[in-house]
Amino acid sequence: MLEVILKGHDKYYGVSDVVRMFCGVPEELKDEGKVIAPEGPDITLINELFEDGRSVTYSENKAYEFKGKLLEPGREIRRSLYMALSDITSKTMPWGCLTGIRPTLVAWEEDSARSLEERYFVRPDKAELAFETSREEQRILSLIPEESLCIYVGIPFCPSRCEYCSFISSDISCHMDRLANYEKALEREIELISGTIKRPIAALYVGGGTPTVLEEKEFSSLLDSIYSNLNIPSGCEVTVEAGRPDTITEGKLISMRDHGITRICINPQTMRSDTLARLGRRHTAEDVINTYRKATDLGFDLINMDLIAGLPYENAKDHIESTKRVIELAPANITVHTLYKKRRASISREQVMDLEMARGSLDESVAESYELLKAAGYHPYYMYRQKDTGHGLENTGFAKGDTGNLYNVAMMSDCRDVLSFGAGGMSKRCFAQEGEPYKHRVERCATIKDALSYIRRVEEMAEKKAEFFSM
Ligand code: SF4
Repeated sequence: MLEVILKGHDKYYGVSDVVRMFCGVPEELKDEGKVIAPEGPDITLINELFEDGRSVTYSENKAYEFKGKLLEPGREIRRSLYMALSDITSKTMPWGCLTGIRPTLVAWEEDSARSLEERYFVRPDKAELAFETSREEQRILSLIPEESLCIYVGIPFCPSRCEYCSFISSDISCHMDRLANYEKALEREIELISGTIKRPIAALYVGGGTPTVLEEKEFSSLLDSIYSNLNIPSGCEVTVEAGRPDTITEGKLISMRDHGITRICINPQTMRSDTLARLGRRHTAEDVINTYRKATDLGFDLINMDLIAGLPYENAKDHIESTKRVIELAPANITVHTLYKKRRASISREQVMDLEMARGSLDESVAESYELLKAAGYHPYYMYRQKDTGHGLENTGFAKGDTGNLYNVAMMSDCRDVLSFGAGGMSKRCFAQEGEPYKHRVERCATIKDALSYIRRVEEMAEKKAEFFSM
């Protein structure tokens, strides 16, 4: 069992982040001042932070310390611990000692990919990716005025639940009655808050779940409500996460086009119909192609398609084949997500080996799909990582030309305000800070997650948000 004793600090979170990458699920024993990992090697480490900001991690016979420009304390303790565990386990991680969900924000602070490699031990291909993506994020962010507002409208329902889903969406087959009431509550919230918004809208995103799960009449009514209550400037980026082809009808496509929706997402995740069926998605790869063609015929030229590497029942080759087939369709945006086949926290040593192999092949297939995308003229424009995935990889949005999505960049950067409508939405205000050009102070205002409670308490939610944005 690995044991890390904290000395001179109480940054359990940072220590756990690094331990998790190497040794599986950690446990924080705060009364004893340590973090343990039952699946780790049988050693004890001391992770110390000194008053001058240096951090050293000691094993029985070695001291690990980075000699160079100091980072802030939270990053410094991660770095010395990463050096120790990497040496002891003879493993390196794709993102080195970067454990956060937004590696590009660290890349914003650096002048080259090389410095990410040297200061954070990021692997060269990931350092390049982060650096390139961070420059595109900055370009896109410069198009969104600080005083503007991005809007999110959430519909947390889906036609059926995908096996791998970790979102808060509900399977609509069990909640048909709620959907229409939910849509009405959304309209009510939009109506109540719209009068208080005096700021220009830079981008709007209708997401989920699957917003197109609404019946045509309700779907069109929601778009009417959005366009009649919110002052959406002409040409403003408005995305609808159409998501699942089994919910996209010609009527809904025409409604979106006629309302002025500029971007839609049609997400195959994989182009293997047998996988889609096993995952509980009620559509085939052919449905994806047909829906995509219908949308382009109707004039949509800005379409995003999501793919997932590491899906259950699939191997690296399947993901590469799916990437090729989606590239053939030539949508403006393709987003590559990485999924980790999570196991229970308590796993055997054989299963740890199994996960190691899964991690390797996922890493390779993601790298290969990036190469294919770049060769086809796509470049990365935004990126984030999810916590506790086990593989430590990332999700990356690719775009052709200047079609990168403003909302995604604004949302991930934590540098622009977001007003969120609907259950589970998170509104936020981001305040620039002197001397911190890359980091805003963020205040958040959460909306109740449960759809039924949201319907009942929509007035209260609207009031809370109006107050949050008036401060
Ligand atoms: S479509 Fe997306 S949100 Fe809905 S169940 Fe599937 S993964 Fe979850």
